[in-house]
Amino acid sequence: MDHKTILKKIKLCIQLMELHDENPFKIRSYQSALNSLERGDADIMEISESELSKIPGVGKSILEAIVSLKETETFSTLDELIEKTPEGILEVLQIKGLGPKKVKTLWEELGITSTHELMEACQSGKVAKIKGFGEKTQETIIQNLEFKASNAGKWLYADVEENIESLTSELQKSLNSSEITVVGDFARKMEIIASAEWLIGTSDISQAKSQFKAIEAFELDKSLSSPFVWRGKVKDLDLNFGIHFSDLNNYPSKKYALSASAEHLKSLVDEKETIAEKLAKNGFKNDEEFFSQINLQFIPVEMREGYDEVSLAKEQKIPTLLEEKDLKGILHNHSTYSDGKHSLKQMAEYCKELGYEYLGISDHSRTASYAGGLEIEKVQKQHEEIDQLNKELAPFKIFKGIESDILGDGSLDYPEDVLKSFDFIVSSVHSILNMDIKRATKRLLTAIENPYTTILGHPTGRLLLRREGYPIDHKTIIDACAKNKVVIEINANPWRLDLDWRWVRYAMDQGVMLSINPDAHEMEGYADMKYGVLVGRKGGLTKEMTLNALSLKEIQEYFDHKKG
Ligand SMILES: [Zn+2]
Ligand SMILES: [Zn+2]
Repeated sequence: MDHKTILKKIKLCIQLMELHDENPFKIRSYQSALNSLERGDADIMEISESELSKIPGVGKSILEAIVSLKETETFSTLDELIEKTPEGILEVLQIKGLGPKKVKTLWEELGITSTHELMEACQSGKVAKIKGFGEKTQETIIQNLEFKASNAGKWLYADVEENIESLTSELQKSLNSSEITVVGDFARKMEIIASAEWLIGTSDISQAKSQFKAIEAFELDKSLSSPFVWRGKVKDLDLNFGIHFSDLNNYPSKKYALSASAEHLKSLVDEKETIAEKLAKNGFKNDEEFFSQINLQFIPVEMREGYDEVSLAKEQKIPTLLEEKDLKGILHNHSTYSDGKHSLKQMAEYCKELGYEYLGISDHSRTASYAGGLEIEKVQKQHEEIDQLNKELAPFKIFKGIESDILGDGSLDYPEDVLKSFDFIVSSVHSILNMDIKRATKRLLTAIENPYTTILGHPTGRLLLRREGYPIDHKTIIDACAKNKVVIEINANPWRLDLDWRWVRYAMDQGVMLSINPDAHEMEGYADMKYGVLVGRKGGLTKEMTLNALSLKEIQEYFDHKKG
């Protein structure tokens, strides 16, 4: 049990209490305890009972629940609630947009106790007829159910990274006479992972197979397996795996083939042969040797997607890709002025401590009241604090920014004299996410054409595996950014990774710079920049085209120039 799982279980308990109409005071007290645990810095697993009891809102019953969770992974109130809830309801509760109240109504009025029954009821129009639901809610439920079904078993890269790495070392330990490597989408740093794949190269396949069988973490599914590929699920994780076996002779070519996308393998190297056909000839020890044999510039693994990388390589145009160490500063971050967890000072000092030259703070603007958006007086107060901190922390510098909401009509969230006072502005959409492509594109265009927009924040608003972004015409948006000298963010939060890497090359070709922004709401959030770099590299991003790879002096000049 870890901190996050404990919070999840408490949250589930609250949902079930609401579903079963428990005492509202009890529900409220659980909710307020959960809120302060979520806001706090302390790791529940690491603090003592007496420290826990000092956290605001943590009363006797929640304290008992946490102690019990730590020891037994559950607690009696939760057990009792689960006991009287049909299993499928727990899944229905996970559907976005359906709170416990609505789930309860569906259960009582239509007898719905599973996602399957819910889909049927939506398709026959029954859900729309319930009071408080309507056609639009029904349509949203259908979309969310379909989205969920299409994402079943899939994981964010960042969420399985540690698991895959530790499973790799376990494989290496157990099969110590074999070559082992991660292949598949993970090797290519795909943002979403549907299956963890490994290739085992060995001179004795049957021995490797029996060694593999002895590893507890993998649950083999014989019906999905063949003599050369074993498939199943990683135990305790809803994660599919594939283990490929190869003799040592074919290992280098298999490693290449299993790491690249199918489209890449079909790309023609010359008039006659594709990458796959060249691989089949098999006379090489590693990727470098392969590329030199076929007379092609080396293509990094993460770029082997089947876009235009082979043509680029033919013209020697594969660039030197951005690396994390090229980043000189961190833009787009939140502090306690809006909905961040750490103070401006903490955010700045930690950024400096990590060796960066500058920080761009961009709390939410005033319309984002749900996220503590800044009224004008608060902006001024923050600017005074920044001036003070800049004296203390020099030569390190904090840039005055804001994440301005893009309002429904595309305008920014402050009058001009306030907009003028910032060094840079990240303009982002946070509300009215259901516009059609024409309106959503027009809204962004208006924001891009606003001379105060420095960076377009998370351009589609997508949350991977959770919600699709609003539709936009990417080419039109990118072209407009080129024309108006607006930088596009690659929001590095693993849930976002937005701009999608598939558009990075087009943006660079139009002369648009990208910025790797962690959108950090706490100090630890800076670490997410890694995921932005990974997807940026997939898109072919270079240091030269990355805004926050500029040095302090360079970016200062850039901001000054943009402001005119
Ligand atoms: Zn945002
Ligand atoms: Zn943000």
